[in-house]
Amino acid sequence: MSDVVVVGAGVGGLAGAIACAAAGHRVVVLEGAGEAGGKLGRARVEGVEIDTGPSVLTLPHVFDDLLALAGAPPLQTERPARWFRYEFADGAAVEIGNGLAGALNGVRSSLGRKAADQLESYLARARVTWEVAGPRFVFGGAPGLKSLASASPRELAAIRPFTTLWQTIEESIDDPRLRAILARFATYAGSDVRRAPAVLSTIAWVELGLGGFGVRGGMYRLAERLVSAARGLGVEFHFGAQVESLLIDRGAARGAVLRSGERVYGAAVLCNAESSVSLGALLPQALRRPVAGERSWSGRCAVLRVPPRDRAAHEVRFPADYLREMEDLSAGRAPPDPALYLCAPRVAHGASGFADGSEALFAMTNAPAGSEDVAWTLSAEDGARVVWERGPAALAMQFPGSEGALYGLASHSWRTAFQRPRNRVAHIRGLYLAGGSAHPGAGLPLAASSGLRAAESLCADLRPRRALWATLGAALPLAPSAQEPR
Ligand SMILES: Cc1cc2nc3c(=O)[nH]c(=O)nc-3n(C[C@H](O)[C@H](O)[C@H](O)COP(=O)(O)OP(=O)(O)OC[C@H]3O[C@@H](n4cnc5c(N)ncnc54)[C@H](O)[C@@H]3O)c2cc1C
Repeated sequence: MSDVVVVGAGVGGLAGAIACAAAGHRVVVLEGAGEAGGKLGRARVEGVEIDTGPSVLTLPHVFDDLLALAGAPPLQTERPARWFRYEFADGAAVEIGNGLAGALNGVRSSLGRKAADQLESYLARARVTWEVAGPRFVFGGAPGLKSLASASPRELAAIRPFTTLWQTIEESIDDPRLRAILARFATYAGSDVRRAPAVLSTIAWVELGLGGFGVRGGMYRLAERLVSAARGLGVEFHFGAQVESLLIDRGAARGAVLRSGERVYGAAVLCNAESSVSLGALLPQALRRPVAGERSWSGRCAVLRVPPRDRAAHEVRFPADYLREMEDLSAGRAPPDPALYLCAPRVAHGASGFADGSEALFAMTNAPAGSEDVAWTLSAEDGARVVWERGPAALAMQFPGSEGALYGLASHSWRTAFQRPRNRVAHIRGLYLAGGSAHPGAGLPLAASSGLRAAESLCADLRPRRALWATLGAALPLAPSAQEPR
């Protein structure tokens, strides 16, 4: 029997497993798929391994800290000089370099000094917001009325809970192209800039100010590094181990039942499935709780095989009316002319291309969660051939309970931070939630932070119980009488 049963080896599950094992607990990870990573996934296409999920890494120190818990060296990252190229329907283009100076120089040379100055002020303000909101919301516990009441007037002024991101952009930036560039950061949370709270301006600061990164050799190396760090701490992995239900004994989580019928017992469960599933189908009917809130957007993704050429690591081609796209997505319609995002893994991550010299491009457009898959028809460039694709319906199948949403709940109000399920489940002892659909939300560093927060609560709760049972000279109450979901 293990101390901790982790369900799911996505980033949140892996972070939770590492933190629990580093705290001295015996950990077993049950992953339904054939390998770890979850949305941080990969495909082998025409002989080449290609990332199929995240392409931009921010806040890499979160992962370095995690690896350090296992005594493992830091992640090998890349900082491509040609960071993002933005193209507009009017033929204009803005190319920015990595980091604050790279962003300001790029905007200055394409859009002029005034735009660069406005960007600098916008990012300076976003930085203040990050310095308030980061420790409190991203690396701290789930916000509650208490934390809101304890916020100082200065902190509330920085967070501006009742202002939208679009209002902030409109009042700070005049150039419509720079507005579009900044509005797009709302889509990193799968959200509509017109409804997203101003606090999401921090995403622009994190990427443009603190810097965006690639992972040497491809993003999937991150999943591999986390698995090997966990193994180094003695974590046991079972792949192809789909959990059908959680074992609940007298109101406490005591393990999991696999599709095969096998039971895996533990003193606590850290669940990295979608929160709607962890608090729904995996539980007995009477203990299920709905997860309130709107789903974030999904994406139509493709891998294109293209002739090689010099390019930036990432590229965005904006439509003439970007806000119209947001309007369509918010109304649940697939936009007819969506912004096209492209990542060149060769430039972004130093990843290898095809044997004949052609390279892979990861392409994505936003689509409403729950929408149908439609064959990829957008032509990114001459000679491009689609070699892999996955739409919202396929994502929904692969990640049950997500409806294909890439980033858990949409951030469409200041309330979202309060609606996200907390890492410690209040009504079931010994059950903890980790991942993009729990506090503090999605994106690689946030999902990792979620795993760490869940592990922190779990370890704090397990310690006194262990001490008590050691004193009584008895084993922890385990599942012989465990009640299974109906
Ligand atoms: C196309 C795409 C692009 C993205 N781009 C970026 C980006 O550029 N930068 C960024 O930071 N983030 C990006 N993200 C978001 C980021 O990938 C996610 O927020 C993060 O990986 C989610 O991690 P998670 O912990 O929620 O776990 P998930 O990735 O959701 O994994 C959960 C794991 O649990 C397993 N599981 C679920 N239920 C069970 C069960 N019952 N039994 C056993 N196993 C189970 C699943 O198989 C899966 O492996 C992107 C996501 C996608 C899909």
